[in-house]
Amino acid sequence: MIRPREISSTVSLFAARTPTLPPATHTNSYALGGRDVLLVEPATPYEDEQREWIAWAREIGSTGRRIVAVLATHHHPDHVGGATLLSRELEIPVWAHDATAARVAGDVEVHRRLTDGEEIRLTIREDREERWTVLHTPGHAPGHVCLFEPRARTLIVGDMVASVGTILIAPGDGDMALYLEQLERLAKLDAAVALPAHGEPIDEPTATFERYVAHRLMREQKILKVLGELTQGAGGVAVTDLVPSVYEDVSPAIWPIAKLSIDAHVEKLVSEGRVTLDDRDGTLRVVG
Ligand SMILES: [Zn+2]
Repeated sequence: MIRPREISSTVSLFAARTPTLPPATHTNSYALGGRDVLLVEPATPYEDEQREWIAWAREIGSTGRRIVAVLATHHHPDHVGGATLLSRELEIPVWAHDATAARVAGDVEVHRRLTDGEEIRLTIREDREERWTVLHTPGHAPGHVCLFEPRARTLIVGDMVASVGTILIAPGDGDMALYLEQLERLAKLDAAVALPAHGEPIDEPTATFERYVAHRLMREQKILKVLGELTQGAGGVAVTDLVPSVYEDVSPAIWPIAKLSIDAHVEKLVSEGRVTLDDRDGTLRVVG
């Protein structure tokens, strides 16, 4: 792996090993800007990788460029695992959404709270600046943010989509309805390239967002169909009983994670009044 890698004249990528969800093994950090530089994803908790990451950042700083901050897209450990150390070593503040700050409180100090729609201005050179808009995109995590630069239509997409592995929407942190809503919002940006936290740059982001939405809705339809079949003339069924049929196309090794995904779909279906959940035994039924 060559690192860092130049993605454009104002974006470079540095992938560091992290404890992330297999088959992904690394989290991408990005350096955005020119004279002003914003780093994204203080991800790695591993000492050897942190040393390399710091060397990369110092190299940037040594060429007369000014690192303004390191931004975390959300609170998951494979995104903030190095936040405290990297920010201390480089003497730069950590930026994140309020909901992220709340979840890392005690471990990571967040110096600036980002809000939806605000603009981050980075001086590229004397006569040119780049403006990145913060987009609050909850769904995978409550405080998840993306960054969009409308001139080159570059989108830093965090964990909204990935080009390696899948994006887990798990109850607690995740919210399937919000996630789908935000994917549709991202699709409307007509971005030219999306830069994910895991895997290669995505050249056709809009098609990718639409495919993700379609795929989740297909899974939701399957949940309703299987639930309808299993409960016909019988009592309600538990989520665990749905997994083998809903995920017949994936290896049973994935089923424990698949169950979390069904949980998230069920939460959405229950809140929409399309499925009922029996509080006493946790069983489900299709409405109507
Ligand atoms: Zn994540």
